[in-house]
Amino acid sequence: MTANTMTALAKTKPEEGLWQIEAPVPEIGADDVLIRVNTTGICGTDIHIWNWDEWAAATVPVPMITGHEFAGEIVDMGRNVTGLALGQRCSGEGHLVASDSRQSRSGRFHLDPGTRGIGVNEQGAFAQYLRLPAFNVVPLPDDIPDEIGAILDPLGNAVHTALSFDLLGEDVLITGAGPIGIMAAAVARHAGARNVVLTDINADRLSLAAHVVPSVRTVNVAQEDLHDVARELGLREGFDVGLEMSGNQGALDQMVEALVMGGKIALLGIPPGKSPVDWSRVVFKAITIKGVYGREMFETWYKMIAMLQNGLDVSRVTTHRFSANDFEKGFAEMKSGRSGKVILDWTAT
Ligand code: ZN
Repeated sequence: MTANTMTALAKTKPEEGLWQIEAPVPEIGADDVLIRVNTTGICGTDIHIWNWDEWAAATVPVPMITGHEFAGEIVDMGRNVTGLALGQRCSGEGHLVASDSRQSRSGRFHLDPGTRGIGVNEQGAFAQYLRLPAFNVVPLPDDIPDEIGAILDPLGNAVHTALSFDLLGEDVLITGAGPIGIMAAAVARHAGARNVVLTDINADRLSLAAHVVPSVRTVNVAQEDLHDVARELGLREGFDVGLEMSGNQGALDQMVEALVMGGKIALLGIPPGKSPVDWSRVVFKAITIKGVYGREMFETWYKMIAMLQNGLDVSRVTTHRFSANDFEKGFAEMKSGRSGKVILDWTAT
């Protein structure tokens, strides 16, 4: 039996901040599971919601329990649920999809136009208990701890982006050394890229990147010329593949310039508003561009768990751990712009 109420972090009024509340434990439907949350990751999305910026105010209904990066265990199941068991450790896909769109019916669930996000449009994971459709559950093997389970959502963004194009033997440029950019660098190395160059202008993030993935070449583009780096690495014609993780217009321009003829770009970073792009450069260099959203359900999850079991190590991208009761400290670290992933532990709540 579970309690009737639980501790959660919620946006309870339309202004800056999040507040710890007592909320009813979610009721589950016939196709849902109830998950006891052990660990959660704080995402950039949660910072937008905390700050209550324009996007958050237009998107998130109040009250809303936030959070979508989690690991925990199944403590209750609806009557239609099969293939899962009480006590199963799990993470899960935070994008809830319907099954009636063309994309869903063709098996491309991540492209369902009606996608709803937990912690954004549906009650989220910053809580002792989370309701989730059984379809979205991803069981965790014993060798993947809850602390990694809590960052599979952003690792999935990194994996989805990095595996958009074949990286074996390729020279890869990644712009933006936030946690997802750093994890993408680790994935690119794991996937067989020859050179991985990761750029930013934030020295703290670049040194974290070098700590997490020692074999990546970090470049502070405020101090070092990317052309010189390419020459130093012996790249005669440029980088083969670009992964844009920053949303920064200058970074995308630099990437287009630095690619080979016929190069490929996967875009995950979100530019602020409409941004000018020199499309003639894209045309004349015959560049392929792919927008990346979320994670493929569930191929990305399959691949990332397989890679984690086969030596991919992103554990050092987590730089801070707090009890969920100290969530304010966790959010302060995230907002400093110097941290890697910040984990909140719910087991003591
Ligand atoms: Zn996230």
